Amino acid sequence: MEPIRIAVVGVGKIARDQHLPAIDGNSAFSLAATVSPDDPGPCDLPHFARLEELLENGPAIDAVALCTPPQVRYELATIALKKGVHVFLEKPPGATLSEVVALRERAQKVGVTLFAAWHSRFAAGVAPARAWLSDRKVEKVSIVWREDVRVWHPGQAWIWEPGGLGVFDPGINALSIVTHILPRTVFLKTATLSLPENRAAPIAADLDMYDTGGASVHMDLDWRQTGPQSWDITVETDAGTLKLTNGGAVLTLPSGTEHNEDLEYPGLYSRFANLIRGGRSDVDIDPLRLVADAFLRGRRDAVEPFYD
Ligand code: NAP
Repeated sequence: MEPIRIAVVGVGKIARDQHLPAIDGNSAFSLAATVSPDDPGPCDLPHFARLEELLENGPAIDAVALCTPPQVRYELATIALKKGVHVFLEKPPGATLSEVVALRERAQKVGVTLFAAWHSRFAAGVAPARAWLSDRKVEKVSIVWREDVRVWHPGQAWIWEPGGLGVFDPGINALSIVTHILPRTVFLKTATLSLPENRAAPIAADLDMYDTGGASVHMDLDWRQTGPQSWDITVETDAGTLKLTNGGAVLTLPSGTEHNEDLEYPGLYSRFANLIRGGRSDVDIDPLRLVADAFLRGRRDAVEPFYD
């Protein structure tokens, strides 16, 4: 079978750290080109400043991976879908819910694959956590996602702009796990968003959610954490406590702890190849819906200005 010719659009941190190595390691794909306005891309490949230039003058491609900030994702995806090119959307899949729903409809209409990728769902502990919880009664959930923005997002201006999500940029990873492993739908009751006086997006957030069975789901999200970082989810059930730590990589059940190899991005690309070969799409908007609800329903508190 011929490999899927793919272009990576937006050569920034995640493209270099994860996408390029994952594509290189998957024989279902061949990297055909890169696109980025300022970054020169890897020097041994055709490179273009704009996606339109690649599609008009570049090598033929079957798919694109959009690794840009979310604010430009819809326009780029629309351009690709118009040409019948399969689309991998980095998380979050768009800057608004409406954009993502419109893309899903368009992909279906033109018969190409659209994949809203939630990389944290491919963390090693997540699939076994989902299986373990499937027949348990969930009583209480606690999410603690605290990291140092200066370490993880130095100088990323877009993340503080409207549509950049601020602290929900990492927080949506936790929500992508929780909405995947819990057997019931989760919805938001109240939220408090802490916005630095000089920024348009929150640096911290506190969310009170519930599942439809009445279990409380609390989320403590903070970008001002120095020292040890926390990416932890605790689920109390009628059969004991489940813990997912290290962003979903480590699973602790009442029977013991499992450490497995991190295969998030290789897992995403295997899934993307399977979707393309099977003529299917996978566009789950639940994590983005909860973030949208927090912006819709949350109280905003002004906090001290943030400088990089
Ligand atoms: P980043 O380092 O700022 O990289 C984004 C890149 O997008 C920039 O290098 C920029 O290219 C490019 N870009 C901007 N507008 C573009 C356009 N119109 N066409 C083509 N390229 C464009 O950001 P990042 O950290 O890689 O994050 C990108 C996305 O991945 C975000 O949605 C983020 O949530 C997600 N993500 C990030 C991480 C992480 O650890 N950083 C992990 C998982 C997911 P130029 O440099 O050429 O201007």
